[in-house]
Amino acid sequence: RSLPVDASEESGPRAVPGACFARVRPSPLRNPRLVAMSLPALALLGLEEPAADPAEAEAEAALFFSGNRVLAGAEPAAHCYCGHQFGSFAGQLGDGAAMYLGEVLGPRGERWEIQLKGAGITPFSRQADGRKVLRSSIREFLCSEAMFHLGIPTTRAGTCVTSDSRVVRDIFYDGNPKNERCTVVLRIASTFIRFGSFEIFKPPDEYTGRKGPSVNRNDIRIQMLDYVISTFYPEIQEAYSDNTVQRNAAFFKEITKRTARLVAEWQCVGFCHGVLNTDNMSIVGLTIDYGPFGFMDRYDPEHVCNGSDNTGRYAYNKQPEICKWNLGKLAEALVPELPLEISQLILEEEYDAEFEKHYLQKMRKKLGLIQLELEEDSKLVSELLETMHLTAGDFTNIFYLLSSFSVDIDHSKFEDFLEELTSQCASVEELKVVFKPQMDPRQLSMMLMLAQSNPQLFALIGTKANINKELERIEQFSKLQQLTADDVLSRNKRHWKEWLEKYRVRLQKEIESVGNADTWNTERVKVMNSNNPKYILRNYIAQNAIEAAENGDFSEVRNVLKLLEHPFQEAEGFQEVKEDAEEEGATATAAV
Ligand code: AMP
Ligand code: MG
Ligand code: MG
Repeated sequence: RSLPVDASEESGPRAVPGACFARVRPSPLRNPRLVAMSLPALALLGLEEPAADPAEAEAEAALFFSGNRVLAGAEPAAHCYCGHQFGSFAGQLGDGAAMYLGEVLGPRGERWEIQLKGAGITPFSRQADGRKVLRSSIREFLCSEAMFHLGIPTTRAGTCVTSDSRVVRDIFYDGNPKNERCTVVLRIASTFIRFGSFEIFKPPDEYTGRKGPSVNRNDIRIQMLDYVISTFYPEIQEAYSDNTVQRNAAFFKEITKRTARLVAEWQCVGFCHGVLNTDNMSIVGLTIDYGPFGFMDRYDPEHVCNGSDNTGRYAYNKQPEICKWNLGKLAEALVPELPLEISQLILEEEYDAEFEKHYLQKMRKKLGLIQLELEEDSKLVSELLETMHLTAGDFTNIFYLLSSFSVDIDHSKFEDFLEELTSQCASVEELKVVFKPQMDPRQLSMMLMLAQSNPQLFALIGTKANINKELERIEQFSKLQQLTADDVLSRNKRHWKEWLEKYRVRLQKEIESVGNADTWNTERVKVMNSNNPKYILRNYIAQNAIEAAENGDFSEVRNVLKLLEHPFQEAEGFQEVKEDAEEEGATATAAV
Protein backbone atom coordinates (compact mmCIF):
# COMPACT_ATOMS: atom_id res chain seq x y z
CA ARG A 1 0.00 0.00 0.00
CA SER A 2 2.96 2.31 0.03
CA LEU A 3 5.43 3.07 -2.70
CA PRO A 4 9.21 3.04 -2.41
CA VAL A 5 11.02 6.18 -1.27
CA ASP A 6 11.60 8.70 -4.05
CA ALA A 7 8.87 7.28 -6.22
CA SER A 8 8.04 10.83 -7.18
CA GLU A 9 11.52 11.44 -8.55
CA GLU A 10 11.60 8.17 -10.42
CA SER A 11 8.43 8.57 -12.35
CA GLY A 12 6.75 11.86 -11.63
CA PRO A 13 3.06 12.44 -11.04
CA ARG A 14 0.78 9.57 -11.92
CA ALA A 15 -2.23 7.60 -10.90
CA VAL A 16 -1.27 5.35 -8.03
CA PRO A 17 -3.44 2.28 -8.17
CA GLY A 18 -3.60 0.38 -4.95
CA ALA A 19 -1.97 2.99 -2.75
CA CYS A 20 -3.25 4.84 0.31
CA PHE A 21 -0.04 6.80 0.50
CA ALA A 22 3.30 7.14 -1.19
CA ARG A 23 6.69 7.84 0.30
CA VAL A 24 8.12 11.12 -0.88
CA ARG A 25 10.97 13.54 -0.26
CA PRO A 26 10.64 17.30 0.02
CA SER A 27 12.44 19.02 -2.88
CA PRO A 28 14.96 21.57 -1.58
CA LEU A 29 14.47 25.31 -1.96
CA ARG A 30 17.08 27.98 -2.67
CA ASN A 31 17.96 30.17 0.29
CA PRO A 32 15.01 29.44 2.59
CA ARG A 33 14.20 32.03 5.23
CA LEU A 34 11.60 32.45 7.90
CA VAL A 35 8.71 34.81 7.15
CA ALA A 36 6.98 34.24 10.48
CA MET A 37 6.33 31.65 13.12
CA SER A 38 3.48 31.05 15.51
CA LEU A 39 4.89 30.40 18.96
CA PRO A 40 1.62 29.00 20.36
CA ALA A 41 1.42 26.54 17.45
CA LEU A 42 5.06 25.49 17.78
CA ALA A 43 4.55 25.04 21.52
CA LEU A 44 2.18 22.17 20.68
CA LEU A 45 5.25 20.34 19.38
CA GLY A 46 7.29 21.23 22.45
CA LEU A 47 9.25 23.92 20.61
CA GLU A 48 9.84 26.96 22.79
CA GLU A 49 10.53 30.59 22.09
CA PRO A 50 14.20 30.86 21.12
CA ALA A 51 15.94 32.39 24.12
CA ALA A 52 19.56 32.74 23.17
CA ASP A 53 20.00 33.57 19.51
CA PRO A 54 16.77 34.37 17.63
CA ALA A 55 18.59 34.73 14.30
CA GLU A 56 20.09 31.29 14.62
CA ALA A 57 16.74 29.84 15.65
CA GLU A 58 15.11 31.44 12.61
CA ALA A 59 17.77 30.00 10.32
CA GLU A 60 17.26 26.57 11.83
CA ALA A 61 13.47 26.83 11.48
CA ALA A 62 13.94 27.85 7.84
CA LEU A 63 16.24 24.90 7.19
CA PHE A 64 13.93 22.26 8.65
CA PHE A 65 10.54 23.72 7.84
CA SER A 66 11.39 24.40 4.20
CA GLY A 67 11.99 20.67 3.89
CA ASN A 68 15.65 21.27 3.01
CA ARG A 69 16.65 19.15 5.94
CA VAL A 70 14.44 16.28 7.02
CA LEU A 71 13.89 15.91 10.76
CA ALA A 72 15.45 12.84 12.32
CA GLY A 73 12.92 10.04 12.36
CA ALA A 74 10.63 11.61 9.77
CA GLU A 75 9.35 9.39 6.99
CA PRO A 76 7.76 11.86 4.58
CA ALA A 77 4.68 10.60 2.79
CA ALA A 78 1.87 11.92 0.63
CA HIS A 79 -1.61 10.68 1.38
CA CYS A 80 -4.00 9.55 -1.32
CA TYR A 81 -7.56 10.79 -1.20
CA CYS A 82 -10.38 11.32 -3.64
CA GLY A 83 -13.11 13.90 -3.48
CA HIS A 84 -16.30 15.40 -4.79
CA GLN A 85 -15.33 18.76 -6.22
CA PHE A 86 -18.13 21.25 -6.93
CA GLY A 87 -20.68 18.48 -6.67
CA SER A 88 -19.10 15.83 -8.90
CA PHE A 89 -16.85 12.93 -8.09
CA ALA A 90 -13.36 13.97 -9.17
CA GLY A 91 -11.46 10.69 -8.75
CA GLN A 92 -7.96 10.70 -7.35
CA LEU A 93 -6.68 13.91 -5.80
CA GLY A 94 -4.34 13.27 -2.86
CA ASP A 95 -1.61 15.35 -1.26
CA GLY A 96 -0.39 17.04 -4.40
CA ALA A 97 1.46 19.78 -2.59
CA ALA A 98 1.60 18.62 1.01
CA MET A 99 3.95 16.13 2.60
CA TYR A 100 3.31 14.41 5.87
CA LEU A 101 6.47 14.21 7.98
CA GLY A 102 5.16 12.03 10.78
CA GLU A 103 3.72 12.41 14.24
CA VAL A 104 5.20 14.46 17.04
CA LEU A 105 4.49 13.53 20.64
CA GLY A 106 3.60 16.81 22.33
CA PRO A 107 4.67 17.85 25.82
CA ARG A 108 1.29 16.85 27.25
CA GLY A 109 1.28 13.48 25.58
CA GLU A 110 -0.89 14.46 22.61
CA ARG A 111 0.06 13.39 19.11
CA TRP A 112 0.31 15.89 16.28
CA GLU A 113 0.62 15.15 12.61
CA ILE A 114 2.94 17.61 10.94
CA GLN A 115 2.99 18.49 7.26
CA LEU A 116 4.93 20.71 4.93
CA LYS A 117 2.62 22.37 2.44
CA GLY A 118 4.35 23.40 -0.77
CA ALA A 119 7.35 21.09 -0.41
CA GLY A 120 7.35 19.90 -4.03
CA ILE A 121 5.99 17.28 -6.37
CA THR A 122 4.37 14.08 -5.11
CA PRO A 123 2.82 11.23 -7.10
CA PHE A 124 -0.50 13.04 -6.55
CA SER A 125 0.54 16.40 -8.00
CA ARG A 126 -1.10 15.66 -11.37
CA GLN A 127 -0.26 18.50 -13.80
CA ALA A 128 0.76 20.92 -11.05
CA ASP A 129 4.15 21.60 -9.46
CA GLY A 130 3.58 20.78 -5.80
CA ARG A 131 4.59 24.29 -4.81
CA LYS A 132 2.82 27.08 -3.01
CA VAL A 133 3.72 30.74 -3.31
CA LEU A 134 4.23 33.51 -0.74
CA ARG A 135 0.76 34.95 -1.22
CA SER A 136 -1.21 31.74 -0.66
CA SER A 137 1.08 30.61 2.14
CA ILE A 138 0.78 33.84 4.11
CA ARG A 139 -2.98 33.60 3.80
CA GLU A 140 -3.04 30.00 5.05
CA PHE A 141 -0.54 30.75 7.82
CA LEU A 142 -2.37 33.81 9.14
CA CYS A 143 -5.87 32.44 8.80
CA SER A 144 -5.11 29.10 10.47
CA GLU A 145 -3.86 30.94 13.52
CA ALA A 146 -6.61 33.57 13.38
CA MET A 147 -9.28 30.85 13.42
CA PHE A 148 -7.65 29.12 16.36
CA HIS A 149 -7.62 32.34 18.38
CA LEU A 150 -11.26 32.94 17.47
CA GLY A 151 -11.93 29.61 19.15
CA ILE A 152 -12.89 27.81 15.93
CA PRO A 153 -11.60 24.26 15.31
CA THR A 154 -8.84 24.38 12.70
CA THR A 155 -5.58 22.92 11.51
CA ARG A 156 -2.71 25.04 12.84
CA ALA A 157 0.27 26.69 11.16
CA GLY A 158 3.67 26.71 12.87
CA THR A 159 5.91 28.48 10.38
CA CYS A 160 5.91 30.15 7.00
CA VAL A 161 9.23 29.86 5.14
CA THR A 162 9.91 31.52 1.80
CA SER A 163 12.81 31.15 -0.61
CA ASP A 164 14.55 32.31 -3.77
CA SER A 165 13.15 29.40 -5.79
CA ARG A 166 10.45 30.58 -8.15
CA VAL A 167 7.42 29.21 -9.93
CA VAL A 168 5.20 30.85 -12.50
CA ARG A 169 1.62 31.46 -11.44
CA ASP A 170 -1.12 32.75 -13.68
CA ILE A 171 -1.46 36.18 -12.19
CA PHE A 172 -0.96 38.61 -15.00
CA TYR A 173 0.62 42.01 -14.59
CA ASP A 174 0.90 43.94 -17.84
CA GLY A 175 0.14 40.72 -19.66
CA ASN A 176 3.21 39.03 -18.16
CA PRO A 177 3.02 35.93 -16.01
CA LYS A 178 4.40 36.53 -12.56
CA ASN A 179 7.31 34.64 -11.08
CA GLU A 180 6.51 33.95 -7.48
CA ARG A 181 8.56 32.78 -4.52
CA CYS A 182 8.14 29.16 -3.48
CA THR A 183 6.97 29.15 0.12
CA VAL A 184 6.26 26.38 2.60
CA VAL A 185 3.87 26.31 5.56
CA LEU A 186 4.33 23.90 8.45
CA ARG A 187 0.84 22.60 9.23
CA ILE A 188 -0.11 20.88 12.45
CA ALA A 189 -3.25 18.91 13.28
CA SER A 190 -4.32 15.84 15.19
CA THR A 191 -4.95 14.42 11.73
CA PHE A 192 -5.28 15.55 8.14
CA ILE A 193 -7.53 12.63 7.17
CA ARG A 194 -10.54 13.89 5.24
CA PHE A 195 -13.96 12.68 4.12
CA GLY A 196 -12.25 12.14 0.76
CA SER A 197 -9.77 9.72 2.36
CA PHE A 198 -12.66 7.23 2.53
CA GLU A 199 -13.71 7.89 -1.04
CA ILE A 200 -10.71 6.04 -2.44
CA PHE A 201 -12.55 2.80 -1.71
CA LYS A 202 -15.30 3.39 -4.22
CA PRO A 203 -15.70 0.29 -6.37
CA PRO A 204 -14.03 0.49 -9.80
CA ASP A 205 -17.26 0.77 -11.78
CA GLU A 206 -18.08 4.07 -10.09
CA TYR A 207 -14.60 5.15 -10.78
CA THR A 208 -13.17 8.02 -12.70
CA GLY A 209 -9.46 8.35 -12.85
CA ARG A 210 -8.15 5.80 -10.43
CA LYS A 211 -8.66 2.30 -9.13
CA GLY A 212 -8.82 2.25 -5.34
CA PRO A 213 -6.62 -0.17 -3.46
CA SER A 214 -6.71 -3.09 -5.87
CA VAL A 215 -6.37 -5.79 -3.26
CA ASN A 216 -8.34 -6.13 -0.06
CA ARG A 217 -10.22 -2.91 -0.65
CA ASN A 218 -12.73 -3.75 2.06
CA ASP A 219 -10.07 -4.78 4.56
CA ILE A 220 -8.24 -1.53 4.08
CA ARG A 221 -11.37 0.55 4.50
CA ILE A 222 -12.08 -1.29 7.74
CA GLN A 223 -8.50 -0.67 8.88
CA MET A 224 -8.76 3.02 8.14
CA LEU A 225 -12.09 3.36 9.90
CA ASP A 226 -10.76 1.40 12.90
CA TYR A 227 -7.75 3.67 12.99
CA VAL A 228 -9.77 6.88 12.80
CA ILE A 229 -12.26 5.84 15.46
CA SER A 230 -9.84 4.28 17.91
CA THR A 231 -7.31 7.12 17.58
CA PHE A 232 -9.49 10.23 17.32
CA TYR A 233 -12.74 9.03 18.91
CA PRO A 234 -11.41 6.78 21.69
CA GLU A 235 -14.51 7.26 23.88
CA ILE A 236 -16.65 5.88 21.07
CA GLN A 237 -14.30 2.98 20.46
CA GLU A 238 -14.47 2.11 24.13
CA ALA A 239 -18.21 2.50 24.54
CA TYR A 240 -19.05 0.31 21.53
CA SER A 241 -16.10 -2.08 21.41
CA ASP A 242 -18.43 -5.09 21.07
CA ASN A 243 -20.71 -3.76 18.35
CA THR A 244 -19.03 -2.47 15.24
CA VAL A 245 -22.10 -1.12 13.45
CA GLN A 246 -23.19 0.75 16.56
CA ARG A 247 -19.66 2.06 16.96
CA ASN A 248 -19.59 3.27 13.38
CA ALA A 249 -22.99 4.88 13.79
CA ALA A 250 -21.84 6.69 16.93
CA PHE A 251 -18.78 7.92 15.06
CA PHE A 252 -20.89 9.16 12.16
CA LYS A 253 -23.24 10.91 14.55
CA GLU A 254 -20.32 12.63 16.24
CA ILE A 255 -18.69 13.86 13.01
CA THR A 256 -22.13 15.02 11.85
CA LYS A 257 -22.54 17.12 14.98
CA ARG A 258 -18.99 18.44 14.94
CA THR A 259 -19.36 19.50 11.32
CA ALA A 260 -22.68 21.21 12.03
CA ARG A 261 -21.13 23.12 14.93
CA LEU A 262 -18.10 24.05 12.86
CA VAL A 263 -20.24 25.58 10.13
CA ALA A 264 -22.32 27.42 12.75
CA GLU A 265 -19.08 28.94 14.06
CA TRP A 266 -18.08 30.02 10.54
CA GLN A 267 -21.45 31.66 9.97
CA CYS A 268 -21.15 33.59 13.22
CA VAL A 269 -17.86 35.23 12.24
CA GLY A 270 -18.82 35.75 8.59
CA PHE A 271 -16.24 33.24 7.35
CA CYS A 272 -16.58 31.84 3.87
CA HIS A 273 -14.43 28.77 3.19
CA GLY A 274 -14.65 28.96 -0.58
CA VAL A 275 -13.82 25.34 -1.56
CA LEU A 276 -16.02 22.99 0.42
CA ASN A 277 -15.20 19.87 -1.55
CA THR A 278 -15.27 16.55 0.30
CA ASP A 279 -11.47 16.43 0.15
CA ASN A 280 -11.41 19.63 2.21
CA MET A 281 -13.64 18.25 4.98
CA SER A 282 -11.77 17.07 8.05
CA ILE A 283 -12.68 13.70 9.57
CA VAL A 284 -12.34 15.28 13.03
CA GLY A 285 -14.28 18.46 12.26
CA LEU A 286 -11.51 21.02 11.73
CA THR A 287 -11.42 23.90 9.28
CA ILE A 288 -8.97 22.62 6.69
CA ASP A 289 -7.36 24.02 3.53
CA TYR A 290 -7.27 27.80 3.41
CA GLY A 291 -7.40 28.87 -0.23
CA PRO A 292 -9.75 31.53 -1.58
CA PHE A 293 -11.45 31.92 1.85
CA GLY A 294 -12.75 35.29 2.94
CA PHE A 295 -14.24 36.99 5.96
CA MET A 296 -17.15 39.09 4.80
CA ASP A 297 -16.82 42.82 5.08
CA ARG A 298 -20.27 44.11 4.11
CA TYR A 299 -22.88 41.51 4.98
CA ASP A 300 -24.21 39.75 1.93
CA PRO A 301 -25.78 36.33 2.46
CA GLU A 302 -24.92 35.37 -1.10
CA HIS A 303 -21.30 36.37 -0.77
CA VAL A 304 -19.00 34.15 -2.87
CA CYS A 305 -15.29 34.40 -2.11
CA ASN A 306 -14.00 31.96 -4.71
CA GLY A 307 -13.59 33.65 -8.10
CA SER A 308 -13.95 30.35 -9.96
CA ASP A 309 -17.21 29.39 -8.19
CA ASN A 310 -19.48 30.61 -10.99
CA THR A 311 -22.69 29.13 -9.69
CA GLY A 312 -22.18 30.29 -6.11
CA ARG A 313 -22.23 26.71 -4.86
CA TYR A 314 -19.99 27.69 -1.95
CA ALA A 315 -21.63 31.02 -1.13
CA TYR A 316 -21.77 32.06 2.55
CA ASN A 317 -25.43 31.12 3.00
CA LYS A 318 -24.95 27.74 1.26
CA GLN A 319 -22.25 26.51 3.61
CA PRO A 320 -24.57 24.72 6.05
CA GLU A 321 -26.40 22.71 3.37
CA ILE A 322 -23.19 22.01 1.45
CA CYS A 323 -21.48 20.53 4.50
CA LYS A 324 -24.54 18.37 5.07
CA TRP A 325 -24.32 17.21 1.46
CA ASN A 326 -20.65 16.40 2.04
CA LEU A 327 -21.57 14.32 5.08
CA GLY A 328 -23.95 12.44 2.79
CA LYS A 329 -20.98 11.61 0.56
CA LEU A 330 -19.00 10.43 3.58
CA ALA A 331 -21.96 8.23 4.50
CA GLU A 332 -21.89 6.68 1.01
CA ALA A 333 -18.17 6.04 1.34
CA LEU A 334 -18.68 4.20 4.65
CA VAL A 335 -20.96 1.54 3.13
CA PRO A 336 -21.03 -1.37 4.01
CA GLU A 337 -19.32 -0.69 7.34
CA LEU A 338 -22.25 1.58 8.12
CA PRO A 339 -25.48 0.87 6.19
CA LEU A 340 -26.82 3.93 4.40
CA GLU A 341 -30.25 3.67 6.05
CA ILE A 342 -28.60 4.21 9.41
CA SER A 343 -26.30 7.05 8.40
CA GLN A 344 -28.98 8.90 6.46
CA LEU A 345 -31.30 8.76 9.43
CA ILE A 346 -28.54 10.14 11.67
CA LEU A 347 -27.84 12.93 9.20
CA GLU A 348 -31.51 13.89 9.04
CA GLU A 349 -32.05 13.69 12.76
CA GLU A 350 -28.90 15.42 13.92
CA TYR A 351 -27.42 17.86 11.45
CA ASP A 352 -29.96 20.67 11.08
CA ALA A 353 -30.92 20.51 14.74
CA GLU A 354 -27.31 20.71 15.91
CA PHE A 355 -26.54 23.53 13.49
CA GLU A 356 -29.58 25.59 14.54
CA LYS A 357 -28.93 25.01 18.20
CA HIS A 358 -25.29 25.98 18.07
CA TYR A 359 -25.86 28.91 15.74
CA LEU A 360 -28.58 30.39 17.92
CA GLN A 361 -26.58 29.86 21.11
CA LYS A 362 -23.62 31.66 19.59
CA MET A 363 -25.76 34.45 18.20
CA ARG A 364 -27.37 34.98 21.60
CA LYS A 365 -23.90 35.50 23.04
CA LYS A 366 -23.04 37.90 20.24
CA LEU A 367 -26.15 39.89 21.10
CA GLY A 368 -25.60 39.65 24.84
CA LEU A 369 -28.78 37.65 25.47
CA ILE A 370 -27.36 35.84 28.45
CA GLN A 371 -30.35 35.41 30.70
CA LEU A 372 -33.29 34.06 28.74
CA GLU A 373 -33.62 31.78 25.75
CA LEU A 374 -36.72 32.95 23.92
CA GLU A 375 -38.19 31.49 20.78
CA GLU A 376 -38.38 34.96 19.23
CA ASP A 377 -34.57 35.24 19.37
CA SER A 378 -33.99 33.59 16.06
CA LYS A 379 -36.25 36.16 14.40
CA LEU A 380 -34.32 38.97 16.08
CA VAL A 381 -31.11 37.52 14.63
CA SER A 382 -32.47 37.19 11.12
CA GLU A 383 -33.89 40.71 11.25
CA LEU A 384 -30.50 41.99 12.35
CA LEU A 385 -28.87 40.29 9.38
CA GLU A 386 -31.57 41.58 7.08
CA THR A 387 -30.91 45.11 8.34
CA MET A 388 -27.19 44.65 7.78
CA HIS A 389 -27.91 43.45 4.28
CA LEU A 390 -30.26 46.33 3.43
CA THR A 391 -27.78 48.89 4.68
CA ALA A 392 -24.73 46.93 3.48
CA GLY A 393 -23.30 47.10 6.98
CA ASP A 394 -19.95 45.72 8.04
CA PHE A 395 -20.58 42.33 9.65
CA THR A 396 -17.72 42.36 12.15
CA ASN A 397 -17.81 46.01 13.16
CA ILE A 398 -21.57 46.13 13.64
CA PHE A 399 -21.59 43.15 15.98
CA TYR A 400 -18.64 44.67 17.77
CA LEU A 401 -20.45 48.00 18.22
CA LEU A 402 -23.63 46.47 19.64
CA SER A 403 -22.12 46.04 23.10
CA SER A 404 -22.12 49.82 23.54
CA PHE A 405 -25.90 49.97 23.07
CA SER A 406 -27.91 49.82 26.25
CA VAL A 407 -31.56 49.98 27.18
CA ASP A 408 -31.32 53.23 29.10
CA ILE A 409 -29.19 55.01 26.50
CA ASP A 410 -30.22 58.70 26.50
CA HIS A 411 -31.35 60.57 23.42
CA SER A 412 -28.09 62.26 22.50
CA LYS A 413 -26.03 59.11 23.16
CA PHE A 414 -28.49 57.17 21.01
CA GLU A 415 -27.98 59.62 18.14
CA ASP A 416 -24.20 59.25 18.50
CA PHE A 417 -24.58 55.49 18.53
CA LEU A 418 -26.72 55.58 15.42
CA GLU A 419 -24.16 57.79 13.75
CA GLU A 420 -21.41 55.31 14.56
CA LEU A 421 -23.48 52.35 13.43
CA THR A 422 -24.38 53.93 10.11
CA SER A 423 -20.75 54.91 9.55
CA GLN A 424 -20.26 51.12 9.22
CA CYS A 425 -22.93 50.97 6.50
CA ALA A 426 -22.72 51.71 2.83
CA SER A 427 -22.78 55.20 1.41
CA VAL A 428 -24.84 55.87 -1.71
CA GLU A 429 -21.85 55.13 -3.97
CA GLU A 430 -21.16 51.86 -2.22
CA LEU A 431 -24.79 50.83 -2.35
CA LYS A 432 -24.76 51.42 -6.08
CA VAL A 433 -21.82 49.05 -6.35
CA VAL A 434 -23.65 46.47 -4.21
CA PHE A 435 -26.78 46.62 -6.36
CA LYS A 436 -25.14 47.23 -9.71
CA PRO A 437 -26.88 45.07 -12.34
CA GLN A 438 -24.59 42.27 -13.45
CA MET A 439 -26.02 41.07 -16.73
CA ASP A 440 -26.07 43.18 -19.80
CA PRO A 441 -29.64 43.95 -20.93
CA ARG A 442 -29.39 41.83 -24.08
CA GLN A 443 -28.28 38.82 -22.08
CA LEU A 444 -31.14 39.38 -19.69
CA SER A 445 -33.80 39.61 -22.40
CA MET A 446 -32.44 36.47 -24.07
CA MET A 447 -32.71 34.59 -20.81
CA LEU A 448 -36.21 35.86 -20.24
CA MET A 449 -37.18 34.61 -23.70
CA LEU A 450 -35.65 31.22 -22.98
CA ALA A 451 -37.50 31.14 -19.67
CA GLN A 452 -40.82 31.64 -21.46
CA SER A 453 -40.24 29.24 -24.32
CA ASN A 454 -38.77 26.39 -22.29
CA PRO A 455 -39.38 26.74 -18.58
CA GLN A 456 -38.26 23.16 -17.81
CA LEU A 457 -34.89 23.54 -19.40
CA PHE A 458 -34.64 26.91 -17.80
CA ALA A 459 -35.34 25.57 -14.33
CA LEU A 460 -32.95 22.71 -14.94
CA ILE A 461 -29.98 24.95 -15.62
CA GLY A 462 -30.89 26.78 -12.46
CA THR A 463 -30.88 30.30 -13.79
CA LYS A 464 -34.37 31.24 -12.68
CA ALA A 465 -33.05 32.43 -9.34
CA ASN A 466 -30.35 34.42 -11.11
CA ILE A 467 -32.88 36.18 -13.30
CA ASN A 468 -35.07 37.08 -10.35
CA LYS A 469 -32.07 38.31 -8.44
CA GLU A 470 -31.03 40.41 -11.39
CA LEU A 471 -34.50 41.92 -11.77
CA GLU A 472 -34.46 42.75 -8.08
CA ARG A 473 -31.09 44.40 -8.44
CA ILE A 474 -32.26 46.48 -11.38
CA GLU A 475 -35.20 47.67 -9.35
CA GLN A 476 -33.07 48.53 -6.33
CA PHE A 477 -30.51 50.20 -8.55
CA SER A 478 -33.03 52.41 -10.29
CA LYS A 479 -34.41 53.49 -6.90
CA LEU A 480 -30.90 54.26 -5.74
CA GLN A 481 -30.19 56.42 -8.77
CA GLN A 482 -32.59 59.00 -7.40
CA LEU A 483 -31.12 59.11 -3.90
CA THR A 484 -28.61 61.59 -2.51
CA ALA A 485 -25.97 60.81 0.10
CA ASP A 486 -28.21 62.29 2.80
CA ASP A 487 -31.18 60.21 1.68
CA VAL A 488 -29.10 57.06 2.06
CA LEU A 489 -27.85 58.07 5.48
CA SER A 490 -31.34 58.73 6.78
CA ARG A 491 -32.61 55.55 5.10
CA ASN A 492 -29.88 53.55 6.86
CA LYS A 493 -30.65 55.26 10.16
CA ARG A 494 -34.32 54.48 9.79
CA HIS A 495 -33.59 50.79 9.22
CA TRP A 496 -31.30 50.63 12.22
CA LYS A 497 -33.68 52.51 14.51
CA GLU A 498 -36.33 50.00 13.67
CA TRP A 499 -34.15 47.03 14.56
CA LEU A 500 -32.67 48.66 17.66
CA GLU A 501 -36.14 49.21 19.01
CA LYS A 502 -36.75 45.45 18.79
CA TYR A 503 -33.37 44.79 20.37
CA ARG A 504 -34.21 47.21 23.20
CA VAL A 505 -37.49 45.43 23.90
CA ARG A 506 -35.68 42.10 24.02
CA LEU A 507 -32.98 43.43 26.36
CA GLN A 508 -35.71 44.84 28.59
CA LYS A 509 -37.04 41.29 29.04
CA GLU A 510 -33.61 40.20 30.23
CA ILE A 511 -33.51 43.02 32.76
CA GLU A 512 -36.96 42.21 34.08
CA SER A 513 -35.82 38.69 34.84
CA VAL A 514 -32.67 39.60 36.78
CA GLY A 515 -32.17 41.00 40.25
CA ASN A 516 -29.42 43.44 39.56
CA ALA A 517 -29.44 45.20 36.20
CA ASP A 518 -25.92 46.60 36.59
CA THR A 519 -24.34 43.23 37.28
CA TRP A 520 -26.29 41.80 34.36
CA ASN A 521 -25.12 44.55 32.03
CA THR A 522 -21.47 44.15 33.01
CA GLU A 523 -21.74 40.44 32.32
CA ARG A 524 -23.60 41.05 29.05
CA VAL A 525 -20.89 43.39 27.76
CA LYS A 526 -18.21 40.91 28.79
CA VAL A 527 -19.92 38.05 26.96
CA MET A 528 -20.45 40.20 23.86
CA ASN A 529 -16.85 41.35 23.81
CA SER A 530 -15.55 37.83 24.02
CA ASN A 531 -17.82 36.67 21.19
CA ASN A 532 -17.62 39.59 18.76
CA PRO A 533 -14.07 39.89 17.45
CA LYS A 534 -12.53 43.27 16.87
CA TYR A 535 -9.82 41.90 14.61
CA ILE A 536 -10.44 39.47 11.80
CA LEU A 537 -8.25 38.69 8.80
CA ARG A 538 -9.80 40.97 6.23
CA ASN A 539 -8.64 40.40 2.68
CA TYR A 540 -6.95 43.75 2.36
CA ILE A 541 -5.10 43.30 5.64
CA ALA A 542 -3.72 40.01 4.37
CA GLN A 543 -2.99 41.74 1.08
CA ASN A 544 -0.98 44.55 2.73
CA ALA A 545 1.08 42.02 4.63
CA ILE A 546 1.61 39.99 1.45
CA GLU A 547 2.76 42.99 -0.57
CA ALA A 548 5.24 44.03 2.14
CA ALA A 549 6.53 40.46 2.32
CA GLU A 550 6.90 40.29 -1.46
CA ASN A 551 9.13 43.35 -1.10
CA GLY A 552 11.21 41.56 1.51
CA ASP A 553 9.63 43.08 4.61
CA PHE A 554 8.16 40.37 6.86
CA SER A 555 7.35 42.66 9.78
CA GLU A 556 3.77 43.29 8.68
CA VAL A 557 2.98 39.55 8.59
CA ARG A 558 4.38 39.24 12.10
CA ASN A 559 2.40 42.24 13.36
CA VAL A 560 -0.85 41.07 11.83
CA LEU A 561 -0.27 37.68 13.46
CA LYS A 562 0.15 39.40 16.85
CA LEU A 563 -3.16 41.23 16.43
CA LEU A 564 -4.96 38.09 15.35
CA GLU A 565 -3.68 36.27 18.43
CA HIS A 566 -5.97 38.56 20.47
CA PRO A 567 -9.03 39.09 18.28
CA PHE A 568 -11.35 40.10 21.09
CA GLN A 569 -11.51 43.24 23.15
CA GLU A 570 -9.56 41.58 25.90
CA ALA A 571 -10.06 41.47 29.58
CA GLU A 572 -7.44 43.33 31.62
CA GLY A 573 -3.99 41.86 31.38
CA PHE A 574 -4.18 41.35 27.66
CA GLN A 575 -4.45 45.05 27.11
CA GLU A 576 -0.70 45.56 27.17
CA VAL A 577 0.01 42.92 24.57
CA LYS A 578 -2.66 44.37 22.34
CA GLU A 579 -1.33 47.87 22.58
CA ASP A 580 2.17 46.69 21.72
CA ALA A 581 0.81 44.84 18.75
CA GLU A 582 -1.26 47.82 17.72
CA GLU A 583 1.71 50.10 17.82
CA GLU A 584 3.84 47.82 15.73
CA GLY A 585 0.98 46.83 13.47
CA ALA A 586 0.04 50.45 12.88
CA THR A 587 -0.93 49.89 9.27
CA ALA A 588 -3.09 46.90 10.01
CA THR A 589 -4.79 48.60 12.93
CA ALA A 590 -5.51 51.72 10.99
CA ALA A 591 -6.99 49.50 8.35
CA VAL A 592 -9.26 47.78 10.87
P1 AMP B 1 -7.64 22.17 -3.15
O1 AMP B 1 -8.64 22.80 -4.05
O2 AMP B 1 -6.62 23.11 -2.59
O3 AMP B 1 -8.27 21.35 -2.09
O4 AMP B 1 -6.77 21.18 -4.05
C1 AMP B 1 -7.34 20.14 -4.79
C2 AMP B 1 -6.29 19.15 -5.20
O5 AMP B 1 -5.27 19.81 -5.96
C3 AMP B 1 -5.57 18.49 -4.03
O6 AMP B 1 -5.33 17.16 -4.40
C4 AMP B 1 -4.30 19.25 -3.93
O7 AMP B 1 -3.25 18.49 -3.34
C5 AMP B 1 -3.99 19.55 -5.38
N1 AMP B 1 -3.14 20.74 -5.50
C6 AMP B 1 -3.45 22.00 -5.14
N2 AMP B 1 -2.43 22.82 -5.40
C7 AMP B 1 -1.43 22.07 -5.94
C8 AMP B 1 -0.11 22.35 -6.40
N3 AMP B 1 0.40 23.56 -6.38
N4 AMP B 1 0.61 21.31 -6.87
C9 AMP B 1 0.09 20.07 -6.90
N5 AMP B 1 -1.13 19.75 -6.49
C10 AMP B 1 -1.90 20.72 -6.01
MG1 MG C 1 -7.46 20.67 -0.48
MG1 MG D 1 -5.82 24.07 -1.21
